[in-house]
Amino acid sequence: MMKRPGLIAVFLMGFLPAATVSAYVLNSGNRWSDNPYVIDVITGPFQSHFGLDATRTMHMARSGLQAWLNVGVGFSTNLAFYNTTSSASDIEIEAKTCCDGDCTSGCLGRATNVPFSDNCALDIYKNTNSPQSYSDDRTGTWDIQSILSHEFGHCLGLGHPSNPEEAIMKQGQYAFAAYPKRFPRVDDKTGGQHAQFIADYPIRVRERTGGAWTQVAKTSGSVGVATRADGWSLVAYETDPTRDTTSNVAHLAISATGGVSPECINWDEWTYDGVAVSEDTSGGFAKAFLAANDGGQILVYRNIYPALLGCITGTRTLTTMSSRRRPSLAYDAGTARLVMAFIDRDRGLLRLSTSDSSGAWTTPTQLNTEWTDAPVGIDCGYWAPAGANRCFMAFPSADGTHLLRIAEGYINASGNYVHVGTSVAGGWTLNVAPDLQIINGNRLEIIHGSTDNTRNAYMYVRDCSSGCTDSTYPLDQRTYVGGGISSTKLVTAAP
Ligand SMILES: [Zn+2]
Repeated sequence: MMKRPGLIAVFLMGFLPAATVSAYVLNSGNRWSDNPYVIDVITGPFQSHFGLDATRTMHMARSGLQAWLNVGVGFSTNLAFYNTTSSASDIEIEAKTCCDGDCTSGCLGRATNVPFSDNCALDIYKNTNSPQSYSDDRTGTWDIQSILSHEFGHCLGLGHPSNPEEAIMKQGQYAFAAYPKRFPRVDDKTGGQHAQFIADYPIRVRERTGGAWTQVAKTSGSVGVATRADGWSLVAYETDPTRDTTSNVAHLAISATGGVSPECINWDEWTYDGVAVSEDTSGGFAKAFLAANDGGQILVYRNIYPALLGCITGTRTLTTMSSRRRPSLAYDAGTARLVMAFIDRDRGLLRLSTSDSSGAWTTPTQLNTEWTDAPVGIDCGYWAPAGANRCFMAFPSADGTHLLRIAEGYINASGNYVHVGTSVAGGWTLNVAPDLQIINGNRLEIIHGSTDNTRNAYMYVRDCSSGCTDSTYPLDQRTYVGGGISSTKLVTAAP
């Protein structure tokens, strides 16, 4: 039930901005201000029209908005999703058949802002005149997840730009066969931050095993942490100290005794989807992120050395690899290689490449047909149950189930990843970057986001000290964009 369902302004998919517009377009929608801001998902018609049950539908709806949080679009309210609540809502999401009088033929979805309010109606249309089908898992033509991300952009207050091509607010490419527009790119991020707010989430750190949280910095994207054998840790993230919607790449060091360095900012480097970090072959650290353009090129900084004074930014390499989301890093001591997992930009499949100290990267190995929406959590190290080194990755499946998956493999003598298998963990998550750490050679710990309205960070544990048992529990902090875990530290980023 929509609040204030009176006057309606329509921003159809056919809405055309001036041809000269070269970037995001702001509509006249208001910033979301009702608190909590209630998003009501009418799940029944998603089952009858698309065969998607309520759980998948809820996860997709949440992920459609989460995609905007991932790129640092912030809100002044708490967001609350409900499955068909009878309470008044600010956004109502429904599945309808086309053409029922308010959507022309060929329309995939539509978002309708309610003027003089922060309310919006969001409809996904099944075109009964077309044999083309919709799904959340590549079994149909159209990707419902992409359509939801786009329509949420309208509800945030964005119109259709004429370019860039990659912007999810530019119409087109919602088919699985194309490059589905599930994730806001740079132009969308800037528009979303202007339409709402720039996220500025506190980064909090505590010991992995417990204790008090300490705020060390602020970020608008996913945050990474790694720890060396001598106890130094590096926290890597994106930061926007000038509040101008361009996020610089940054890190800070934490000494073995808990001393925290000032921020070390790469002032000539920008990104928009978080920063990954790991130990490097040199004994220092490495960090990786996406170049701040629509090409999704992966940039890596290596030879970063921690210090409480001074700022060692390391050596920069623009790789030839391109990803849909932030890449992830791990260090494999067994082969003395830096390992990078990423979602290849063309097909959206999970791949791994490794590099020795020379800086050359191997041809990426495909990890079966695994695909995911989120940057993966990865760690490599000795794994007692296998009696050898292993690399483990944690990631949510890209279909609407968003089940947390754990992949296992290893790096061979040639530096190539060899896949052993993938298992489904009992948990679920959104497209919030999880992170994974091997503990004591027999235990996996995974920090990931919840799908409920609390947005708590969760810890998923697979303990294989005697057989394998899985358990999960919420942490006493929230995570909006993805946290991190190392051998000694836990990091979260959320209000
Ligand atoms: Zn549109």
